Amino acid sequence: CGIVGYIGHRDAYPIIMKGLQRLEYRGYDSAGIALYDGSQINLVKTKGKVEDLRHKANGISQNGSIGIGHTRWATHGVPNDVNSHPHYSNSGDLVIIHNGIIENYESIKKELTKRGYTFTSDTDTEVLVNLIEEVKKTEDVKLGQAVQIALNQVVGAYAIAVFDRKKPDEIVVAKLGSPLAIGIGENEFFIASDASPFIEFTNNAVYLEDEEMAIVRLGKEIKLRKIKNDAVA
Ligand code: GLU
Repeated sequence: CGIVGYIGHRDAYPIIMKGLQRLEYRGYDSAGIALYDGSQINLVKTKGKVEDLRHKANGISQNGSIGIGHTRWATHGVPNDVNSHPHYSNSGDLVIIHNGIIENYESIKKELTKRGYTFTSDTDTEVLVNLIEEVKKTEDVKLGQAVQIALNQVVGAYAIAVFDRKKPDEIVVAKLGSPLAIGIGENEFFIASDASPFIEFTNNAVYLEDEEMAIVRLGKEIKLRKIKNDAVA
């Protein structure tokens, strides 16, 4: 399982696909990618190998300079296309990739279902992205703050990357248990489980510690925050 993300001025598609291929050694059963092309998110995912994803991705627009990609090692829900990542929130605005396990996803799912949320997959991850959406809506906060509040309600392990198609200049990342690195280039950022997906672009990297998160925003410096108690702007 591995995650890759990109935000900057290059085409995200080849960077993410190559990155996923470099993370293949970590083992996985499915793969997927979501790209924002300037007006909408194009998402494709499949059970199988990154090579299978590449074939399937020929059917979608591969444009965009912001995107996230994932290789999945199924923990909640069988390996199939629907359970593969990325996952959308109910509104279709948020899209997430996640390595790890949300242990208390069932009780959160129940609560969200009561509030009208529906779920297309059996994953714990789809519960998390909808929890983030619900927090963002009810507390009327920005994505970074919503992620922080949501993660404080979560028991488990994660490396996540999430972005909002309505604010496609930032990717919010967080880590507990699973690895997450940010590569810093010239007005561009790379996100990955390890540095191998971005090693040819930059050797300036920061590695998140457990219980840290960051808002990876174009034109901004990376500031790592503690999920538990730092103020997230
Ligand atoms: N728990 C998530 C799932 O089953 C993520 C698994 C992973 O780490 O790839 O979809």
